Amino acid sequence: MSKTKEVDIIIIGAGPVGLFTVFEAGLLGLKCILIDNLDKVGGQCAELYPDKPIYDIPGVPMQTAEEHVSALLEQIKPFDYSTFLNQRVESISENSSTEDEVSNWTVTTSEKNQFTAKNIFIAAGAGSFEPRRPPNIEDPDRFIGKGVSYAVRDKSLYEDKDVLIFGGGDSALDWTVDLSGVAKSVTLIHRRDEFRGAPNTESQMRKLIKQGVVNLKTPYVIESLIGDGVISGVSIKNFETKELENLSCDEIIFLFGLNKKLGPIVDWNLDLEGKKITVDTEKFETNIDGIFAVGDINNYPGKLDLILSGFHETTLAVQHAYKRCFPGERVPFGYTTSNTKLQKKLGVIE
Ligand SMILES: Cc1cc2nc3c(=O)[nH]c(=O)nc-3n(C[C@H](O)[C@H](O)[C@H](O)COP(=O)(O)OP(=O)(O)OC[C@H]3O[C@@H](n4cnc5c(N)ncnc54)[C@H](O)[C@@H]3O)c2cc1C
Repeated sequence: MSKTKEVDIIIIGAGPVGLFTVFEAGLLGLKCILIDNLDKVGGQCAELYPDKPIYDIPGVPMQTAEEHVSALLEQIKPFDYSTFLNQRVESISENSSTEDEVSNWTVTTSEKNQFTAKNIFIAAGAGSFEPRRPPNIEDPDRFIGKGVSYAVRDKSLYEDKDVLIFGGGDSALDWTVDLSGVAKSVTLIHRRDEFRGAPNTESQMRKLIKQGVVNLKTPYVIESLIGDGVISGVSIKNFETKELENLSCDEIIFLFGLNKKLGPIVDWNLDLEGKKITVDTEKFETNIDGIFAVGDINNYPGKLDLILSGFHETTLAVQHAYKRCFPGERVPFGYTTSNTKLQKKLGVIE
């Protein structure tokens, strides 16, 4: 278990609303930690539609989702925050009473990191994105860390290894091209000879095949995993002829896309309505003091799942978080043009 780090706000989910929370909190001098299950920030914008234009961000007539995330990152640069990716928040526990009257929370992530704060902002969107498991394979997770993975976390793991990549989308193509320069061999396996990724990456992949750097197996699907404790190969089935073939390997990466799951949130004693957390519309607080829910994850009368709505919600919630950090103090209010701290950090004034 890593050392517990204490901040003012723990933000669960680094989608657009989680990112903007850092900005609003920063204006009030509050420190944040952002935690996300994915390997990147940006939530749905980054994972589901990076190239799609967005037309309804006030003052920004058009921006792709990727540009929107980059702009948010630029906007929060002046502020103190840390980001912890590739880990899901698994549990929230209340710390036993301190001298403060205000409750204090510890969250624990799947990587066993712990963080403590008086305020938790659940900005978990539609839940955490979970990798799709290979179909019809019983308990593939028993090989996790022993030759099976659902994402590339550290390229050096694949150095001088025989690697099989399953999938037909952007991730499968990107990693086929990328790991071809690292691994001993890379074989891409897909159910048909058509890919859903960027045409440019597909042509790079096909060029590598022609050069004999990468192997392509289509139309194949996985039949079974081979290994005794550790992966040593797979059996694949030709989708058309139904013939089986065994391939040996050191590592298998399944890149079949992601499912959205509410995940551990259901166990946090929060009032839920379907897959959403019920909040009030003054503070966007849940039924538990100090735990707020902002963005797509929350529900209240008239709720709209839009980035703009999440920005409004978190702006108001942060005001209340400040009061929990500094009980009895007035929340400083001012337009950003009169926020000297921000302007100093931006270098606008000395
Ligand atoms: C195709 C498409 C087009 C869209 N177009 C528009 C548009 O044009 N304009 C607009 O305003 N909105 C649009 N939306 C909606 C918009 O994307 C959402 O309103 C917005 O992403 C919500 O932001 P969020 O930060 O609340 O959640 P999300 O973007 O969903 O981010 C939540 C993050 O929380 C993480 N998470 C969840 N649970 C955990 C956990 N336990 N531990 C760690 N991390 C966790 C997830 O991995 C995810 O990264 C569109 C949505 C889609 C799907």
